[in-house]
Amino acid sequence: MIVVFNENATDKQIQKVTEKLYDKGFDVHRSTGTAQIVLGVVGDTGTVDIRDYEVFEGVHEVIRISEPYKLASRSFKKEDTIVKVGKATFGGKQISMIAGPCSIESREQIKKIARMMKKTGTKVLRGGAYKPRTSPYAFQGMGEEGLKYLREAGDMNDMAVVSEVMDRMDIIPALKYVDMIQVGARNMQNFALLKELGKIDLPILLKRGMSATLQELLMAAEYIMAGGNHQVILCERGIRTFENYTRNTLDISAIPVLKKLSHLPVITDPSHGIGIRDKVAPMARASVAAGADGLIIETHYDPEKAFSDGAQTLYIKQYEELVKELKIIATAVKRTL
Ligand code: PEP
Ligand code: MN
Repeated sequence: MIVVFNENATDKQIQKVTEKLYDKGFDVHRSTGTAQIVLGVVGDTGTVDIRDYEVFEGVHEVIRISEPYKLASRSFKKEDTIVKVGKATFGGKQISMIAGPCSIESREQIKKIARMMKKTGTKVLRGGAYKPRTSPYAFQGMGEEGLKYLREAGDMNDMAVVSEVMDRMDIIPALKYVDMIQVGARNMQNFALLKELGKIDLPILLKRGMSATLQELLMAAEYIMAGGNHQVILCERGIRTFENYTRNTLDISAIPVLKKLSHLPVITDPSHGIGIRDKVAPMARASVAAGADGLIIETHYDPEKAFSDGAQTLYIKQYEELVKELKIIATAVKRTL
């Protein structure tokens, strides 16, 4: 349920309604960045008589939200949410790029790639330190040491940095180093992790689980938002289908569908989304054309020797070329990149 106030509603009027909602045991979230103040009411509102709230002074209307996700829905907030990550923004007119290696492999490696990414105008550097690998024998990531190198590389090039956290225990240490925490596809429904991420004040890059519906993705976002952290970026990273020629099937249709259902920014990960290097660029171009607010792409100066995901990693030259193409497509869809 949401309570929409008149544009000239006073703080006192809003406070009165908020207090009544709290008294009834509901959780209340006040919208930010909207012309009209909206209260998102969370809890079992099924039996509430909405007229009890419509009679309050300053209230414009009370609307029941039928979707199971409330704070993530367009009904709660009509305006697009813009999430800031360092100097990059996601969700506005600007389309922002995130790029870098799948894994942080050494101080030298991440610094070298950061420098190369910076030259392309990319504002956010990616690099995994805790890797969710299918095999326990595969490279598991450098852990906190890797995060240190990622931060250094970011700072030297005036770039923000993002990295995945798989375990609740790793959140606090990661806060020292990163500007955004990634929740990987395999952890999209790790509810204990999502709840903890709801308590921090840092953007979250939430990837769609490989067999998750869009509603499940939005419910995962809701977990984070219900805790108070509304800085969530949704990421389509490919889903499992019956098709075997590609690693995953990048669901381009998720972009316009999510943009309609939610006010949160939507980006895609064409690297994991298709899993084959020469097909990453076409998927990236399609994403921008379909309305994505950003992209996350794996890059390396020597993909053949990458510790993980080399087969889907772009050579630097390929990435540079892609950025140029994406700028043209962005203009065609009235965006900037
Ligand atoms: C990654 O970004 O390297 C990664 C493992 O992503 P995903 O969770 O989408 O597989
Ligand atoms: Mn990867």
